[in-house]
Amino acid sequence: MKSVCPYCGVGCGLLVDVRRGRIHAVRGDPDHPANRGGLCGKGQQLAATARTGDRLLRPLVRESADRPFRPAAWPDAIDRVAGTIRRVVAEHGPGAVALYLSGQLLTEDYYVANKLGKGLIGTPNVDTNSRLCMASTVAAYKRAFGADGPPGCYEDLELARDVLVVGSNLADTHPVLFGRLRGASPHLTVVDPRRTPSAAAADEHLAIRPGTDVALLLGMAGALFEAGLVDEAAVSRRCSGLEEVRAAVLPPERAAAVCGVPAAAIRAVAGRLAGSPAALSLWCQGLNQAADGTDRVNALINLHLLTGQWGRPGAGPFSLTGQANAMGGREVGGMATELACHRAWDDPAGRAEVQRHWGLGELPPGRGLTAVELVEAMAERRVRVLWVACTNPAASLPDGRAVRQALRRLDLLVVQDVVHPTDTSELAHVLLPAAAWGEKTGTLTSSERRVALARQAVEPPGEARPDWAIFAAAGAALGAPHAFAWRDPAEVFDEHVRLTAGRDLDMTALSHDLLARDGPQHWPYPAGGSPRARRYEDGRCHTPDGRARLVPVAYAGPAESPTAERPLRLVTGRERDRWHTQTRTGRVAALRGGAEPVLALHPDDAAAAGLAAGGLAHVRSARGAAHARVTIDPSLAPGTAFLPFHAGPLGQPGGWANALTPRALDPVSFQPELKHTAVRVRPGAVVVTGGALADAVAARLRERGGDPEGVLRVVVAEAPLSGAPWWDVAQAPPPGPGMAVLDLAAGPEPLAALPALVDAGWRVSWEGERWLPAPVRRLVERRLAAPGEPGTLRVAGPAATECAVRDALVLAPGGSLGIHAPLSGDPATLAAFLNGELAARGALRRVVAALSPRSSLVLAGDPLGGPDDAEQGVDLLVHEDRVAGTAQVWRTAAGQVLGVAAVLPPAVAADAEALWLADPDPALLRRRFPVR
Ligand code: SF4
Repeated sequence: MKSVCPYCGVGCGLLVDVRRGRIHAVRGDPDHPANRGGLCGKGQQLAATARTGDRLLRPLVRESADRPFRPAAWPDAIDRVAGTIRRVVAEHGPGAVALYLSGQLLTEDYYVANKLGKGLIGTPNVDTNSRLCMASTVAAYKRAFGADGPPGCYEDLELARDVLVVGSNLADTHPVLFGRLRGASPHLTVVDPRRTPSAAAADEHLAIRPGTDVALLLGMAGALFEAGLVDEAAVSRRCSGLEEVRAAVLPPERAAAVCGVPAAAIRAVAGRLAGSPAALSLWCQGLNQAADGTDRVNALINLHLLTGQWGRPGAGPFSLTGQANAMGGREVGGMATELACHRAWDDPAGRAEVQRHWGLGELPPGRGLTAVELVEAMAERRVRVLWVACTNPAASLPDGRAVRQALRRLDLLVVQDVVHPTDTSELAHVLLPAAAWGEKTGTLTSSERRVALARQAVEPPGEARPDWAIFAAAGAALGAPHAFAWRDPAEVFDEHVRLTAGRDLDMTALSHDLLARDGPQHWPYPAGGSPRARRYEDGRCHTPDGRARLVPVAYAGPAESPTAERPLRLVTGRERDRWHTQTRTGRVAALRGGAEPVLALHPDDAAAAGLAAGGLAHVRSARGAAHARVTIDPSLAPGTAFLPFHAGPLGQPGGWANALTPRALDPVSFQPELKHTAVRVRPGAVVVTGGALADAVAARLRERGGDPEGVLRVVVAEAPLSGAPWWDVAQAPPPGPGMAVLDLAAGPEPLAALPALVDAGWRVSWEGERWLPAPVRRLVERRLAAPGEPGTLRVAGPAATECAVRDALVLAPGGSLGIHAPLSGDPATLAAFLNGELAARGALRRVVAALSPRSSLVLAGDPLGGPDDAEQGVDLLVHEDRVAGTAQVWRTAAGQVLGVAAVLPPAVAADAEALWLADPDPALLRRRFPVR
């Protein structure tokens, strides 16, 4: 079955292999025009992400965020949501309700949510995580061409002879497109503060100072005028604003002084752009995520307009879309700054068209609150209901601690998602289970404006439903069943495309049937017309005079400048194979990467901070702190640091990347400045613990709500000791208020290590673990501290672990916390779990975790295999020592094998995981690793 990858804006086509009602494997579609059979690591692992054990399987509700969830029937959950919305609208007006959507939703999902929010509820506050992603590009396209959407198409990657990449590491983020680009061998120039894989592969790397892109681009424009490379008559025929832009450019030397790129290089790149037979520029979040993001993009587009490098094959500005359907969301109008289908809020004719089309009465008067503005409104109780769909704002929005506090102030937080817990769902009042990729049908639009159909391959598990159907149910409950009565997503799509009639994005020729028959299609594609791969080839733009607009911009610099207290510029970004806050890739061992975030520092900055490679860093900004393992990167400009943003408060309760970033917004696009934060870095203390106990400690830290200064991350997986990443730190007690927790139930190693830790100077607190061997007990008592006292080593035993596990499962009736590795080292607890005493539906998932340099845990289960394990009478069959530890199998009373747990040498464990990925049948694992 053909489908589309749900991750990034490349829009790779897939062939999905379904066996026994489950997605068995995924490979690239050789006939798809975007990827021609290729896939990156994320696409290759899609089958594994379709089988996570922490799916949200039924609606869950609770009265307040400190109470446990309880299951609810769909009608009751929807009534709870609709009832609260009705009350809040009656008491505080429709603006007190907001929807926060996602570029991972399908266009049909987006359409229904937009109609529900702006049309039925009457709130303008319908925004999306595309605000963090493409908002600056949307605003810049509208300023330059009068309409959103890139002018070019992927074919231009192969037709361009010179390519300028600014603020994109597409080798990691859009690898399939990077492969196409490399195959065509244009001259490649990459502008990036880091020597990324893209920069390393380029013919030229301009290592710009973070936040100075506008200065560089103004310097390049200055070089064009200086060298007489602007054909002013030709430019004036096609563009307005030439005089204003000429007055705004910078001499290359002045630009060089700001951005750190030599003036000669600025002149050379500008000259190459002007003299190229076909020049293309590509960009992504490095330009967009800035307080001057829109100006950055317009400064880059200006270079194309000044040199005539646009509106023809191989030439033009071409944004790389971050998320799979960020473009579709923009088309629908799923942004608070747009109304619908590229109509502006203040366009009377456009408002009338939308109002007629929806038939739901008066529309809100003007634009709504954007993502970061919503946080302030929630904190001030101007917004009281937030409905989050398919995204994780508690981890991804800037100034993360303020975000969490604001979310806690809501009357109602609805989280509609595929899995639970996420950093956001753990704060929710109502959880609505959504169908995942492969379980629903709908469309996505790629970076090149090409609409594709993703088809349902399997049934959603449990009671999960497609997102559009959930929004439609709410529409019916809120009193407009007639307006939300589609029978299937094809009907939703038909209603959406009718609203595009006559617009720049007219796609009235499209339908699900046509896309299924003819494959993905570019817009515009009006009924009776043909699709257009390139726009503006006739020079006609969507501006009042039909010309493109040169937009004068000035360099202002980033919102936060380095200071003596916070001397480093922190850049945040993605790592290859990881996707956003890892609610999907984090559940697949092959994509998960290391357990800890890694902070890249220039050698001089690391030395100044007293840090070496492998050390633990405490990073602090004006808002919060984060913790990371240090790597030294000599290619970084001194004063620049880089931290991936994938971690959130669930995994890093002591601090995550977006706990640092500022709320500074671009005044045009309202996109926050995620790419530039002034920070200081110093060695950190550490919290060390393992597994379920880690969760309990993490929960306590979160309850305290503050920023435990000097306390580092809780290791949520397992608790390896010798050779583990924190071991070196654990041997040196923190000078400040750091705290460590030693989980003695995690196996024999922690107990053996205790004397060494006491010798290293730790003071120990414990609460009467009487089972401690007498010699250890005597040793500990020599250095006793009060329980929980900061700066101490907290010792905990099996009882603590078991209680924590039980509490965790009670708190998660969906069983979504999964099973944590220390259970493997505690056979009694694992046996209790497998015997059903601790069972919860869906609680088992595949885990491969290193227990020590010599052994790994493999835990493979079948979480969607049927009714609750407990109901089926799960039977622990085997418990034996094998190879380096234990291996266990459990199955139903009827004999169906549900899963395998084994402690194996790492190489064998990897082998077992590969086998599991190839065919998720526990019986196979059992055959391969036989147990009695
Ligand atoms: Fe999916 Fe993007 Fe990778 Fe293609 S390049 S497989 S669309 S994540």
